[in-house]
Amino acid sequence: MRIDVDEPDARDLFWEGMRDVADAAARHQDQALYQAIVKIGRAALAQGIEVVSSGGLFLQCPICDALPGQRCVNVAGHPLGDRACHPERVELSAKAFKGEVPIPPPLR
Ligand SMILES: [Zn+2]
Repeated sequence: MRIDVDEPDARDLFWEGMRDVADAAARHQDQALYQAIVKIGRAALAQGIEVVSSGGLFLQCPICDALPGQRCVNVAGHPLGDRACHPERVELSAKAFKGEVPIPPPLR
């Protein structure tokens, strides 16, 4: 069954909801919520929801392995300073957003 709902802002609402879940996961330190972000993200992308520029937050970090939705953590040789995400993650996100590289796992 397919239901059509008139919601012109669906894409923005979707990613806003994902950010809300990410905030809740960080607040409660809840690993299950990060797993839920991956599940929801994979399903949504498979259904054709468009990716928005998110500064890398919804991609797994290639430096510190932070999960989609999870903020980066300091690792040796890659200090974060006051940034939420490693620059390499932000760069990966920008490339994926422009279609220069495929969306990396686990969201793909
Ligand atoms: Zn990182």
